[in-house]
Amino acid sequence: MTRSLTILGATGSIGRSTADVVLAHRDELRVEAVVGGRDAAALGKVARQLGARFAALADERGGEALRQALSGSGIESGAGEAAVLEAVERDADIVLAAISGTAGLAPTHAALKPGRRLALANKESLVCAGSAFMADASRLGVAIIPVDSEHNALEHALAAGSNRDVEKAVITASGGPFRTWSRERIAKATAKEASAHPVWSMGSKINIDSATLMNKGLELIEAHHLFDLGAERLDVLVHPEAIVHGLVQWCDGAVTAGLALPDMKVPIANALRDETRLTMDLPRLDLAAIGRLSFERADEGRFPCLSLAKAALRAGGAIPTILNAANEIAVEAYMAGRIAFYDVSEIVEKVCSTFSGRSIAAPSTVTEALDIDQEARQTARILIPALAGATRL
Ligand code: NAD
Ligand code: MG
Repeated sequence: MTRSLTILGATGSIGRSTADVVLAHRDELRVEAVVGGRDAAALGKVARQLGARFAALADERGGEALRQALSGSGIESGAGEAAVLEAVERDADIVLAAISGTAGLAPTHAALKPGRRLALANKESLVCAGSAFMADASRLGVAIIPVDSEHNALEHALAAGSNRDVEKAVITASGGPFRTWSRERIAKATAKEASAHPVWSMGSKINIDSATLMNKGLELIEAHHLFDLGAERLDVLVHPEAIVHGLVQWCDGAVTAGLALPDMKVPIANALRDETRLTMDLPRLDLAAIGRLSFERADEGRFPCLSLAKAALRAGGAIPTILNAANEIAVEAYMAGRIAFYDVSEIVEKVCSTFSGRSIAAPSTVTEALDIDQEARQTARILIPALAGATRL
C-alpha cells in the first residue's frame, strides 16, 4: 500500500538521502510536502523531483524565488513559519524530521499527530525537550522510528528481548577526524579540518559535533529518551570502520548488534518501510573483504564534550537542554572561526555550571524547553567575545 510522506529538511544531507530512497520506491512512497530552510532553488528542485504536492521554505524572503522555481509544476508553495506549519499539518502517514539543530524542534513537535509515524533524524528535539516530546508522542499514539544510524541499529537489536533484560546498550562512534590527533594538535584545528569526516558525509553542524564527540553525547541522551534506559545502562564505543552501529548486551551475556555499511539510506529505508523491507540497490557488507573491525574506548580527555554530555544525562533536569543550546552557539562561533576547538567544550561547561546551581526541572512542555534554550543561548553568547579575543588560530 502507498504511504504518504512529508520531509522536513528536504534539501539537507538526510533529506537528499531520503529523496534517493523515495525515488527507488515510488510505488510505495508518495511525497505530500517538503520543507527547507533558505535555499529556494534547491527546495524547488527536490519538490519537482519527488512530485511533492506542497513545498514550504522557512525563510519568508525566499517565497517569490520558490514560486518561480516551481512555476508550471502545479506544486503549491509557501514561505515563513505558517507555511512550514501548513506542510506539517497536511495529511501524511509518515513525517521524516531532518531539520538540523534545535530549529527543528517546533516543526518536529507539531508533526506529532494521532496515528502518524515520525521518522526522527533531528536528535536535538529529544535532547532539548525529550521528556515532554516523548510524553506527547505517547499520548497521541505516534510511533517514533529513529533514523540516526546507531539508534536504528539499537531499535533492531532491542527487539530481541525486553527492556528489563538489557544490561547495556552501546552506540558506536567512528571517532571523527581527530581520533588519532594529539590534544595539542586538536587545540589548533580549524573548522575546515573538523568538517572532514572520515566516514560519513553530513551537514555542517553534525560534522563539528562528530569531531568534538558531542554528537555521541547527544546520541546518548537521545537513546535515553527513545528506549527508556538510564545513563548507567548506556555506553559509547569508538569503532573507526563504522560497520557495527549499536549493540545490546543482555543479562544472560548474549549480545545483539546492528551492522551495515555506513550509508544513511539504510536506516532511512528502514524507517520508511512497512512489514516488508524496501529493497535497496546499495553495496552489500562484505566482512571478508573488510577483514577486521577495531574498537577502542573513547578518550574523554581529548574529547571533553562527550564527558560533559554524559554528566548532563546523569544530572538530568534542564541540564541537557542547556548543554544542547550552549553547544549550538559555540559550534556556530567555531564554524565562523571566532573561537578555538576547545573553547566549544569550555563554553558548554561554563554555561552548564552557571545553571546547575538553580536545579531547574526537566521542561514539561516544548515551550518551556525553548524558553530555557533561549536563556542558555544568551549566556553562551556573552562568553564568546572574551574567548574570541584570546584565540589565535
Ligand atoms: P543539513 O544541514 O545537511 O540539513 C538541514 C536541513 O534543514 C536543510 O534542508 C535545511 O534547509 C533545513 N533547515 C535548517 N534550518 C531550518 C529551519 N529553521 N526551518 C526549516 N528547515 C531548516 O543537516 P543533516 O546532516 O541532514 O542533519 C539533519 C538532522 O539529522 C540533524 O538533527 C542531525 O543531527 C541528524 N542526523 C544527521 C545525520 C547525517 O548523516 N547527516 C545522521 C544522523 C542524524
Ligand atoms: Mg548517529
